[in-house]
Amino acid sequence: MSALLIKNIKQLVQVREETNEPVRGTKMAELPSIDNAWILVKNGLIEDYGSMDTSPDDPNAVIDATGKLVLPAWCDSHTHLVFADTREEEFVGRIKGLTYEQIAAAGGGILNSAKKLADKSEEELIASANERLNEIMHLGTGAVEIKSGYGLSVDAELKMLRVIKHLKENHPLTIKATFLGAHAIPTEYKQNREEYIRQIIEEMLPVIAKEGLADYIDVFCETNYYTPEETSRILEAGKKHGLKPKIHVNQFTSIGGIQVGVENAAISVDHLEVMTDKDKKDLAARNVIPTVLPSCSFFLGIPYAPARELIAADLPLCLATDYNLEAPQAEISRLCFHWLA
Ligand SMILES: [Zn+2]
Repeated sequence: MSALLIKNIKQLVQVREETNEPVRGTKMAELPSIDNAWILVKNGLIEDYGSMDTSPDDPNAVIDATGKLVLPAWCDSHTHLVFADTREEEFVGRIKGLTYEQIAAAGGGILNSAKKLADKSEEELIASANERLNEIMHLGTGAVEIKSGYGLSVDAELKMLRVIKHLKENHPLTIKATFLGAHAIPTEYKQNREEYIRQIIEEMLPVIAKEGLADYIDVFCETNYYTPEETSRILEAGKKHGLKPKIHVNQFTSIGGIQVGVENAAISVDHLEVMTDKDKKDLAARNVIPTVLPSCSFFLGIPYAPARELIAADLPLCLATDYNLEAPQAEISRLCFHWLA
């Protein structure tokens, strides 16, 4: 049995005895910790901890953490970390005043990424994603969710998910996979969106289930993307294949995405830059976790999610990076920690 004792820890942070329930509202301001502490790890799991006057005998491996803090790694629940290339050329358009929607209408945005991704092999995507995973691991992330959604065709979406599965099985970080086939409507189906939705439900989902390619299902529920009704249908289909919903909602407009998330018992509703009073009310006392992505607001120049109001409404607030091809991770992390402080 391998054991590791970390001793003389200046402060052991986030010590919670009881609950696995999400920490809500004002309780989020409490950060239970132990000064001058030790923690014992056996076979990769926390076995015990306490203050130094109760320290156990040294096992084989010891780390002396004098003057240092020990705290949980960051769990990043919303990323688009597998992608072909960055889209910095779109910054020029943005500096000139074009909006996200105008850039998308001109062939940029998600659809541009899909075109670039289709040309890359699984090996190339794995290699670049591996570098990004190493980068975030060294910045303190211990678990990460990664979405598909830059494929937007049966082959390319499955390719992305197979890449994520490979990363999951080979990288030391804990990784969860989310199927986001409904990230945008592909250009060739603009006039026939039903056909693309059919492909998601009838062609992609059965293969994803059979090969165990995803844990979660996601939809971009937004004006000009997927309607609440379409979102609901796609989530229902995903649930039948054992995938849990977690969705993109209320980034630019409030069209009922929160309510679709609540009705489908989504694990989380993510973005929330635009929240009506009804949206906030409908989230109250639910087990759907509001997730905000402040780096997205920063990079797109759109409003920030009303995080303080959500906390004041006794909700459990989650913060994630939305790491994607527009925003380098180091910048996101710095921004998130700055924003939290
Ligand atoms: Zn996202």
